[in-house]
Amino acid sequence: MSTEFTHDVAVIGGGAAGLSAAVALARSLRSVVVIDAGEPRNAPSHAAHNVLGREGISPLELVASGRREAEQYGAEFRDGRAVAARRIEGGFEVEYDGGASVRVRRLLLATGLIDELPDIPGVKEHWGQSVLHCPYCHGWEVRGQRIGVLGTSDHNIHQAFLFRQLSEDVMLFLNSMPEPEDAAWEQLAALDINVVRGKVERLRGEDDAVRAVVLEDGNEYQVDAVVVAPCFIAQADLYEQLGGTLTEMPLGRFIEAGPMGETKIPGVWAAGNLSNLGSMVASAAGAGVLAGAAINADLVNEDTRAAVRARADAAVANQG
Ligand SMILES: Cc1cc2nc3c(=O)[nH]c(=O)nc-3n(C[C@H](O)[C@H](O)[C@H](O)COP(=O)(O)OP(=O)(O)OC[C@H]3O[C@@H](n4cnc5c(N)ncnc54)[C@H](O)[C@@H]3O)c2cc1C
Repeated sequence: MSTEFTHDVAVIGGGAAGLSAAVALARSLRSVVVIDAGEPRNAPSHAAHNVLGREGISPLELVASGRREAEQYGAEFRDGRAVAARRIEGGFEVEYDGGASVRVRRLLLATGLIDELPDIPGVKEHWGQSVLHCPYCHGWEVRGQRIGVLGTSDHNIHQAFLFRQLSEDVMLFLNSMPEPEDAAWEQLAALDINVVRGKVERLRGEDDAVRAVVLEDGNEYQVDAVVVAPCFIAQADLYEQLGGTLTEMPLGRFIEAGPMGETKIPGVWAAGNLSNLGSMVASAAGAGVLAGAAINADLVNEDTRAAVRARADAAVANQG
């Protein structure tokens, strides 16, 4: 007996990537269900930048309007977290909060990533406001200000160079990062980036903003913003449940996917930060549209093969 599907496609995650895919699929008259836990990665920030046509929009307003657009074309939404996925004949069953489930022909994973922050008091409290990671997301807002880069990995040197493009007052706190190599010392000196040795004890905040970096030896350095390098952890539990494995890179772990979002698991696509740790809002949305189009094309091919089989069967039956 063949599976009865509730929808053609389940999109897991309703951020920029998942919502864009849902719009593309629903506009192709595919029945789509989006299961979303409602916690987009950039929610701690007031504004999303480098989003063409919606520059500076609130991240929550952006996903709310994306959801309305997807709903206009008939996409359905389930608020909650998808907790289990398993393969069934012809597709997948996905269970979400409360024990409810959907049965779908194709699966798009767009669950984003978690930013694992340095465990230093003050970092979490000011994350997304005056504790930053990305010069394209917040760099303009701190241009010309006193910027401290909190050393935890090699990547901080590159971050210091990027923020130096935006301010002449950049300090690199070596903290727990590896000792820079000779060439890096030369570059830091040439760019007038001050390097501070010693372990950071905490960030001191005032009026909802970071004001100083405090070292374990008691010395304090005044800053207006602090840059950190989180470890990026793809939210890929469902992919692993289906037998997939993650690819490791120095900045974190992600699902390796092809240019249209196809993964190594047939029938499963991935888009956004889950498959590209460096993706921003606009590129996550672009990856979502491409994955939506690829899934629709894959279903068209499957439907065409089924139609050809049915036609041949009918011809045989007529002859009999
Ligand atoms: C502080 C900060 C500020 C940023 N500012 C900018 C900016 O100004 N401009 C810019 O272009 N980029 C910015 N970014 C990057 C931006 O957040 C990401 O590029 C973008 O959110 C990626 O979209 P996504 O759809 O892949 O993931 P997300 O937007 O994170 O969406 C993933 C969705 O999936 C849901 N989810 C996760 N697991 C499950 C599950 N098991 N079941 C159901 N739902 C689930 C989550 O709750 C979330 O709603 C910023 C990032 C941070 C951390």
